[in-house]
Amino acid sequence: MAVMRHRGRLAPRPSRIAPRPKATLPFYRQPEWKELVKRLIKVRGRRCHDCGREGCRIYGDHEIELRDGGAALDERNVILRCATCHGAKTEQARRARAGLVDTPRGG
Ligand SMILES: [Zn+2]
Repeated sequence: MAVMRHRGRLAPRPSRIAPRPKATLPFYRQPEWKELVKRLIKVRGRRCHDCGREGCRIYGDHEIELRDGGAALDERNVILRCATCHGAKTEQARRARAGLVDTPRGG
């Protein structure tokens, strides 16, 4: 008699809750944007505006994000940030947009 194999016990379950791939706007692949960031790094220095870190990869970050109506190629709207700060800021903006801003509980 064949023993019924229970499916799924050992089989790795394909995760369907994979994090969404970051939707990179086509804008960020445009040479105009890359040039602007390059220029700003030259002018301001390769240095994170937030934490002051140097010698790391620096990203141009829109202070007011494009989807929030920020000016795309206005250097006054572009902040240079390291990956960490850039990620933190992006996450913050995303949460704020979704109304998920952390608020102290039981305050
Ligand atoms: Zn930083």
